[in-house]
Amino acid sequence: MSVWVDDGNSSCFTELQNAGFEGTYVTNDPVPSFYPQYYGAGMELGCHLFYHTCDAVTEYYLRYTQIEPNIAEICGGTPEPCPDLVSLVWPCGFTTIEEEAVSSNYYLAARGYNFNLLEETTPTDWQNLKSFNSHEHTPYPPSDLKTVVDMAVQQGKWANLVFHTSCNDDGAIAYSATKDIWVAPADTVIKYILQRQGFVLNSYQSDSSTTTFSYSRLGIPMSPFRDFETAFTPADTVTLQININGSNPLASVTLNGTSYPYKSSVEGGNTIVLMDVPIDKTVRTVTISSTAVPSIALTPADLNFSASVGTNPASQTISLSNGGGGTLSWTATADSTSPAWLSVSPGIGAGDATLSVSVNTSSLAAGNLYQGNHDSGDGGCKFPPGSECDADCKLHRFGFLCDGLRRRAVHGPLGGGISGGYGLFGWLKGFDHFSHQRHT
Ligand SMILES: [Zn+2]
Repeated sequence: MSVWVDDGNSSCFTELQNAGFEGTYVTNDPVPSFYPQYYGAGMELGCHLFYHTCDAVTEYYLRYTQIEPNIAEICGGTPEPCPDLVSLVWPCGFTTIEEEAVSSNYYLAARGYNFNLLEETTPTDWQNLKSFNSHEHTPYPPSDLKTVVDMAVQQGKWANLVFHTSCNDDGAIAYSATKDIWVAPADTVIKYILQRQGFVLNSYQSDSSTTTFSYSRLGIPMSPFRDFETAFTPADTVTLQININGSNPLASVTLNGTSYPYKSSVEGGNTIVLMDVPIDKTVRTVTISSTAVPSIALTPADLNFSASVGTNPASQTISLSNGGGGTLSWTATADSTSPAWLSVSPGIGAGDATLSVSVNTSSLAAGNLYQGNHDSGDGGCKFPPGSECDADCKLHRFGFLCDGLRRRAVHGPLGGGISGGYGLFGWLKGFDHFSHQRHT
């Protein structure tokens, strides 16, 4: 949102300052005595045609009697440098396409009047920006200008509020300070949009830990009368919004290799980084690094044990490694639910390791186990209908066991001659499952 005060009036200065904002003050001849003070307070000073002419005039008259004397008077009579003077307001909102062609030689933008419309995020006519009238002029704006603030927020557009002899803003300036809306002088918004339009992205790369890219912008088109590039300084930043993969903690955000301020949030599982960066024809590089989080990788993911009744199967090993980044610390715990038949060693460590996994069949009391013959489909199953064991039994011919606690049998078809097989299955906390299979 931009607040404009026309005709050399001093209105809204206190309201803007109290809200922490700056506005745009435009004048015809003469330049008010308070303009240097306003400029010193951060206000933009702009043009309003030397004689405040509200009619069609010749190109010569507009150029040499209205525009150029107005520019000379403002940048000669205030501390605002001539290159910074980029905004015009058409007196009475009057302009023609021919006049706009002339004004575009001198100004990045000219503001119109009598629209009572929001301006687009990228204006279609830079030399006749849409605005809302002040209350004393028809066509009247909404009776409460706070609704214009709400409209701008809802539609994501640019509200240009205009005032004259009084700051009859209905509290809209103070209200906007409580809303998610950017309030800045018109020249700041104008330059922001022009730089955003010319944004050039190069060499974008992103993986789980690093996002990097280079950027620059196109040059600002000059006119026969002005090199508008001189109106832009490093203070005219644009905001980059970078969506990086994942939500790992950010380790560093750099611009050309130097740590750079940013804000971040997490949306939809990805970290969003916001950076206000200088932008011009120079190529700059942004690099965002995140701290990779450790993750456990196991090879193989499953172990299978087979043994005859009364014997223990040989121990097996499983390789544990860090499948992510950083330093992995881990613990390995076998399910101790009785009967505890599975053990793993070592139970704690850091970094890569080889774990030994053992099975002790002696603790497996036969009386606690369900056992069935399933050569004929589900005919031999004894599981509660609907349990996973039940489903498995119908689909596979295998030896299985289900004690009611570990209700998923080990998959894998057995030979047709085996009539009384069963399998065991247990969980190693934090890892994939281990299983034990025994045939009778
Ligand atoms: Zn005026």
